[in-house]
Amino acid sequence: MGNFNFAHEGDLTIDILIKRVEAYYPDADFEMIRKAYEFAATAHQGQKRSSGEDYIIHPLNVASTLTQLRMDIDSIIAGFLHDVVEDCEVTEEMLRHHFSESVVNIVVGLTKISKIKFKTREENQAENFRKMVVAMAKDIRVIIVKLADRMHNMRTLQYISEEKQRSVAQETLDIYVPLASRLGIHSVKAELEDLCLRFLHPETYYLLAEKIAMKKSEREKYIKDVALIVKEKLNEYSVKADILGRPKHFYSIYKKMVQRSLDFEQIQDILAFRIITNNITQCYKSLGIIHSCFTPIPGRFKDYIAIPKVNNYQSLHTTVIGPKAERIEIQIRTYEMDEVAETGVAAHWKYKEGIGARKQKLDWVEELLEYNKSVKSSTDFLDAVKNDLDAMTIFIFTPTGDVKELKAGATPLDFAYAIHTEVGNLCVGAKVNSKMVPLKYRLKSGDVVEILTSKTQTPSKDWLKIVKTSRAKTKIKQWLLKTEREKHKKFGEELLEKCLKVYGLSIKTLRKSNDVDRILRHFTLKNEDELLYQVGSSKISPKEILSLLPEVAEMMQEQEAELEKIQNDFKKVNNRLPISNKKDNAIIVEGLEDVLVRMAKCCNPIPGDPIVGHITRGRGITVHTKSCKHIALQDGVKIVKVDWNNNFSFRHPVNIRVITLDRPGTLAKISKTINNLGINIRSAIARSLPDQKGNFIFEVEVKDYNELLKVISMIESGEEVLTVTRI
Ligand code: MN
Repeated sequence: MGNFNFAHEGDLTIDILIKRVEAYYPDADFEMIRKAYEFAATAHQGQKRSSGEDYIIHPLNVASTLTQLRMDIDSIIAGFLHDVVEDCEVTEEMLRHHFSESVVNIVVGLTKISKIKFKTREENQAENFRKMVVAMAKDIRVIIVKLADRMHNMRTLQYISEEKQRSVAQETLDIYVPLASRLGIHSVKAELEDLCLRFLHPETYYLLAEKIAMKKSEREKYIKDVALIVKEKLNEYSVKADILGRPKHFYSIYKKMVQRSLDFEQIQDILAFRIITNNITQCYKSLGIIHSCFTPIPGRFKDYIAIPKVNNYQSLHTTVIGPKAERIEIQIRTYEMDEVAETGVAAHWKYKEGIGARKQKLDWVEELLEYNKSVKSSTDFLDAVKNDLDAMTIFIFTPTGDVKELKAGATPLDFAYAIHTEVGNLCVGAKVNSKMVPLKYRLKSGDVVEILTSKTQTPSKDWLKIVKTSRAKTKIKQWLLKTEREKHKKFGEELLEKCLKVYGLSIKTLRKSNDVDRILRHFTLKNEDELLYQVGSSKISPKEILSLLPEVAEMMQEQEAELEKIQNDFKKVNNRLPISNKKDNAIIVEGLEDVLVRMAKCCNPIPGDPIVGHITRGRGITVHTKSCKHIALQDGVKIVKVDWNNNFSFRHPVNIRVITLDRPGTLAKISKTINNLGINIRSAIARSLPDQKGNFIFEVEVKDYNELLKVISMIESGEEVLTVTRI
């Protein structure tokens, strides 16, 4: 909060800058800093800024910002040199001759970033590149120096054409502001945001500046009063703290005005206070005191100390009704947290006791750099960005910003399995950069992928043809194997039970008589499940088992024919089993190929029905009939145009309710009518109604709407039939 002032300093000199470094790093290599300055001054000799100043003032200001962030010497040297490769005739080799490898690498990284053409209009693209920069930069200091560079360019933006002002400001807002935020460098982020507002919406900016300046003395008094009251309250409970107060940044006020469509006058909490104390206990104690003295606004308390933000930001946030009945926002944190909040990731390079403290809670940065290592260092950064399709590895992001490294050519299914096996198994579709894509879509580096899942989804064999990563392949195979085993086990159980029944036995009786153990030993099997699986997959025949039972062995031959029959019947059924895993692909979703859809259970559409598709968060596309009553009830459901796939022949299950007079043989008669049309009955439920009527529910498989009509009219023609309805 006003700890930093990055204003352009026109009269900055190398001597002033060295003094600033000395203040926090007394035994730095000042000769080296001076050398870098002179090298840059010579290289930029004769070049001018748009402001008319000598060019060297720009690198000087960039280096100065880096000193304010307490960055290490390499970063400051790189700050001086950051434009020499791009703007002067200085080569990488020349730099290597004079400066350390890490300095050169930072400068080279900066030169590469400057060549990326960011597409600011396409938000997704900008998002991708923003993340790419983070993911691919070898050294995070590259980005910090880049931010310092952009900061100074923004500070001096008034000297270039209006058109260029807009495009630079927009790019800053799209790419560098989110970067600063992600890196937790709040001071830079807030400053950049305000500058963006100034050049993108000058009217708003100057209006806010005017309004805020107008009541300046009044407000300053108010801030002073509140700070004093708070300080006294805290002192009463012997909490020592610094209390700072100031108007919020223009941009955050502006954002509030836009988000809630309010005028400046309607924005209540334009003031923010900060309580900085020595330790965490004092933070919570302060919070308690604040809440007991002032009325807290419900829902505004956030504990980022217990649960820090991804960028390591820690603080307690609360909003209370202040002493003059005004809303005030209060942040409470320790001095250390305050430093991290202002300088973010930069704090980790800060000079501390002569050691560049790098190793701290930098998990996510470490992670990104770790990923980066697997990309061959010889691969040019830019090429990797542009030709990521040819790269061996791609980086994919979750909507929350986590990164997964995948093989090139990977699909959303691979990504789903990379997140979690269960996410993969239940995957019904995916959104890439907020757009629905088919499961076989080829992901590109930087894509933001959201996986849609459904509890009723199961993996299919076809998935093995889609996925590219071995992890996904293994997991799908494991699932298929497991289901296959379970199917065989169940099948084996039924078969064995039937065969035993012929001799008046059951698996249960075998267990009781300890015969099961004996059988297991005979076949050297671990357990009963294993045995049933062996039977179900025809590795052990029921006959072999029966012959081990003394009470059966004698009668075996008599019942041989019966056993044969049971086994043959089961074989027929077993061969038909694999059909069950079939995907319903009878739908064409506008603009998309082979996206996975499911039919709504409420209206169960069949081909010929007018239909619409619903995208439900987390559940993929559900197809309803246009007349379905459930549609109207659901809010926030996205509608997509869907159509029946005419080339797809698949029979759809439909339920039909038939009410008849209660006469014997009715079920058989109706069943025959349906079968005569060549239509399969999946199931039939018959029930007598109290008033002497029969109630039947048939689940039949029809090709389309016409076929359904045919079935219905044929059933209706039966003389005992009263009504026929589709349910
Ligand atoms: Mn520059």
